[in-house]
Amino acid sequence: MKNLSILENIKTFVLDTLFPINCLGCARDNIWFCSDCQKNIELLSFQKCPVCENRITESGLVCPKCRPSSRLDALLVSVKYRDDYIRKLIHLYKYKFIEDLHVPLGNLMLKIILSSKIPLPDMIIPVPLHPRRLRWRGFNQSQLLADYIGKNIAAGFEIPVCENILFRKKYTSPQMKIKKYSQRLSNLEDALDVKKNDKNHLSNDLKNKTILLIDDVATTGATIFECAKILKANGAKKVFGVVVARQEINSLNGSG
Ligand SMILES: [Zn+2]
Ligand SMILES: [Zn+2]
Repeated sequence: MKNLSILENIKTFVLDTLFPINCLGCARDNIWFCSDCQKNIELLSFQKCPVCENRITESGLVCPKCRPSSRLDALLVSVKYRDDYIRKLIHLYKYKFIEDLHVPLGNLMLKIILSSKIPLPDMIIPVPLHPRRLRWRGFNQSQLLADYIGKNIAAGFEIPVCENILFRKKYTSPQMKIKKYSQRLSNLEDALDVKKNDKNHLSNDLKNKTILLIDDVATTGATIFECAKILKANGAKKVFGVVVARQEINSLNGSG
């Protein structure tokens, strides 16, 4: 065991020398994004209906006009994707595999949840990753955020995080790579489902549950809408979603 810790120390020393960690905002040592810089990130001052993205609504509720077409009840967006720091944080988190960044990103999500009027959920569900992508990244970025939010959303108790209800049954191209909304929707068709045991029962009962879905970034929201549809079809009463940021479709390269 002792040898192992020496090796660990050497590894840390080498990594720190080759790849020193500095705050993205103020260059302070040994932290990716310090609490002072976190405080300087502006939360969104208003929320919109996640379906039409036209009407400003309380807590990101779906507006009355869009309600018939959406199983999702509301989507809270924490910050602007256009914020330089946010873009960098998300990129480092998702594509450079810096797991520790779930803390500052999770804190932004907690702030927006706690400032909203959405009710405390019975359970938290991260948007699932296909096992193939999970192997590539080594962690599910939504799962880490969900665990962090479950532990910190309420004082004195944890909200259970259920990562084994929704799963991806089909390997799909990353939504990020698809420019057209209609293609994004068809890319997701039959891609997600709920896990059932051999008696055709769910691993966790969803009946009459209020659920908070967690994802890092939404663009069209197609994935979250699809998750909500499946959860409602299996008995959920309310499904709310929260993301760090929503990327505008027209900010993707190319047209459509
Ligand atoms: Zn800083
Ligand atoms: Zn609407």
